[in-house]
Amino acid sequence: MQSTRKLFVGGNWKCNTTLEKSVNLVETLLNSLSFNSAKLDVVIAPIFIHIPALKSGIKNAVQIAAQNCSLTSQGAYTGEIAADQIKDIGIDWVILGHSERRSYFGEDSELVGKKVKIALATGLKVIACIGEKLEEREAGNTFDVVKNQLTAINKEVSHEDWKNIVIAYEPVWAIGTGKVATPEQAQEVHEYIRKLMVEINNSEIAENVRIIYGGSVNGKNSSELIGKEDIDGFLVGGASLKPEFADIVKSCDSN
Ligand code: PEP
Repeated sequence: MQSTRKLFVGGNWKCNTTLEKSVNLVETLLNSLSFNSAKLDVVIAPIFIHIPALKSGIKNAVQIAAQNCSLTSQGAYTGEIAADQIKDIGIDWVILGHSERRSYFGEDSELVGKKVKIALATGLKVIACIGEKLEEREAGNTFDVVKNQLTAINKEVSHEDWKNIVIAYEPVWAIGTGKVATPEQAQEVHEYIRKLMVEINNSEIAENVRIIYGGSVNGKNSSELIGKEDIDGFLVGGASLKPEFADIVKSCDSN
């Protein structure tokens, strides 16, 4: 069955680049991308302070995401950036629950669920990351881990909210390691997530939600991965800062 889900390619720039390099990436890489924006979302996530300069430099349908938002609203919370302040500058997306936030900044599934709720309430769309660590996969716990992370988010959101959430399945052992999940390994978990969405929500939500894969996606492996039935695109780290990001976008645009 041909899916009607719009594909999605995200570029997570993490805490990389200077302003000059970011502007250069927009000019040389992003502005030369040509894709059918009715069929494909392309969304890049630079660091917060670069966003205004990059936003005004983007000349095509590439969108911007924040890499995080605060659990707090506006107020006396030094160093935080509230979800509605992201929305206020014209940004529509936020990445939440990335494994680097979970492992280096102590974000657990409960907190991620609460952040997802706050972001959605301000009108942001969410790229919600889930995925197992190597030891969890080796212990045979991949499905349980993914289920716990997803149900923590599901607890906080309504059926209607799922229209504004993209699930990013990112096995932690594949992030930044060069060890990409095989298309079969990725499809197996994506299929599990879609079935789980039927169980915890309903088949309409499960059929429509986009489930993207992240973990060492590059210009060479993206075509095969995107050919899998339940893979609706990618969240790309390292390769999103390189010319091959254009190949990844192309593999989805021509799928
Ligand atoms: C990521 O950070 O979400 C990611 C998938 O990184 P990489 O593509 O570098 O593995």
